[in-house]
Amino acid sequence: MSIKIIKVNEAILGANENQAEINRKRLDEKRVFTVNVLASPGAGKTSTIIQAIHALKDKFGIGVIEGDVASAVDASRIHAVGMPVVQINTAGGCHLDANMMVPALDSLPLDDIDLLFIENVGNLICPNAFSLGEDTRLLIASTPEGDDKPYKYPAMFTDTDVILLNKIDLKPYLDFNLDAFEKIVHELNPDAVIYPYSCTTGEGVADWIAWLEAAVNAKKNG
Ligand code: MG
Ligand code: ZN
Repeated sequence: MSIKIIKVNEAILGANENQAEINRKRLDEKRVFTVNVLASPGAGKTSTIIQAIHALKDKFGIGVIEGDVASAVDASRIHAVGMPVVQINTAGGCHLDANMMVPALDSLPLDDIDLLFIENVGNLICPNAFSLGEDTRLLIASTPEGDDKPYKYPAMFTDTDVILLNKIDLKPYLDFNLDAFEKIVHELNPDAVIYPYSCTTGEGVADWIAWLEAAVNAKKNG
């Protein structure tokens, strides 16, 4: 007789996909453009989200789901700029999954939200394997991490639509080759759009915010 073997990983990912579809439907019904923000720790996820809030808060209702292994430090920063925020503590878990979104979505005023950021756990290994129901993935890299980062974590750079390259203001002090970075990224993901910018100086920010604003409007009015 033949024995069916189900790999645990596949079962987990399949169940996750099912829940992610349910989340997606719910967010589509409310026309909430949802961004899954991925990066290594310290790349500037929270600072980037706060910058987008400042740029777009007069145009859209914005909400944030913060994912961290522990603490509510980032949620406090979002709360301080006056946006509805939910903190998910994964108790050691290294990524968010679609099930964790359910209580988070329950506690947000989705009728008033056009743009929802989900700040994933800072980690470049596995969060890309777990859909949450998002419209797009935003991968944030930063110049101190090195221009060869896409070689080390290729899946993170292929499972994304837009790549933000933060801390471009530090480039003069670092051995970071922007041309090399763009070449490696486009070898892996020819369609990826790359926006270099700096949360500190604000340079380049208007460009990626313009992309985001257009995407939110397309869903809101679509
Ligand atoms: Mg953060
Ligand atoms: Zn993980």
